[in-house]
Amino acid sequence: MGWEENVRRVVPYTPGEQPDFADMIKLNTNENPYPPSKRVQACAQTAKTERLRLYPPPAADALTNALAKSYGVKREQVFVGVGSDDVLAMAFLTFFNADKPVLFPDITYSFYDVWAELFRIPYECQPLDEELRIVKEDYCRPNGGIVFPNPNAPTGVELPLDEIEEIVARNRDVVVIVDEAYVDFGTRSALELIRKYDNLLVVQTFSKSRSLAGLRIGYAFGSEKLIRCLNDVKYSFNSYTMNRPSIELGVAALADEAYFRETTAKIIATRERTKKRLAALGFSFADSKANFLFVTHPDYAAKDLFEALKEQHIYVRYFAKPRIDRYLRITIGTDEQMDALIGFFKRYMNK
Ligand code: PMP
Repeated sequence: MGWEENVRRVVPYTPGEQPDFADMIKLNTNENPYPPSKRVQACAQTAKTERLRLYPPPAADALTNALAKSYGVKREQVFVGVGSDDVLAMAFLTFFNADKPVLFPDITYSFYDVWAELFRIPYECQPLDEELRIVKEDYCRPNGGIVFPNPNAPTGVELPLDEIEEIVARNRDVVVIVDEAYVDFGTRSALELIRKYDNLLVVQTFSKSRSLAGLRIGYAFGSEKLIRCLNDVKYSFNSYTMNRPSIELGVAALADEAYFRETTAKIIATRERTKKRLAALGFSFADSKANFLFVTHPDYAAKDLFEALKEQHIYVRYFAKPRIDRYLRITIGTDEQMDALIGFFKRYMNK
């Protein structure tokens, strides 16, 4: 058969679509509906392209230092990458290297099993309970590492910090990764635990709460030892992952704490308002703490709603997968966008 026999084959992760219609309402990939901070715009306008002839600093020092300062940790406890996907992929490659299976929820970020397959990491999925909650006891068995988002995706359900601590404390001989992509919309971060546990890696991103999905900035906090291990693998893979413009614009975004607070608060307010309106239309959902809702309706198939919405250029996410194919994941947009969504549902249901 030749070369094809030896190809590393993998079923890739399927990202949500990125349609491009002027009139569309895009609620399918959990982007922020508000623009990035004005400081990002100002920084872009004064950028010096002459410096682009030089490689970027491999450790992305300006951004690493700014993150360390902003979050009250040492710079040696910070790792940055090209979106949290890059950070998570590096963390899988670095820390999940045992014969025992890595554990993660059965309903979760659908990139985890793709990385596990790609890197040939054995894994075992632990089922969420009836209310779509992570069951902490499931993560207290022999394993080669643990990863879960908090709040979980696509459910939005938060795991309380004391339960996370219990999982980390009972698994001191493996690395536990908490993927906090959506933490800024009202979940308590596990960051404070990194001082106490050298086996905990907390991963965050600028893609959601800082309106910078297009820039690709992710980062992780952990013990100095953990971050050193991560850097050794990263420098064995690609030294210059973060480009100069991203580093500079990321620093500018991080400096605007007021705007970050204002926009995340607006999204939380819209989310809570939207929950009430969707409940009034007969939808049910777990209590999301993220910038999306994971909803189901007893009388309407999720796939039909998804398609009808798409015809109106309203994009939401539908997963044709067991256990979750009755659900739609709807990103929280602006109040106006949510009005349009609710208006559509009312018309569709003749209410
Ligand atoms: N983790 C979770 C749970 C996500 O939903 C996403 C967004 N697809 C990511 C990580 C990756 O986001 P990014 O690479 O944009 O930081």
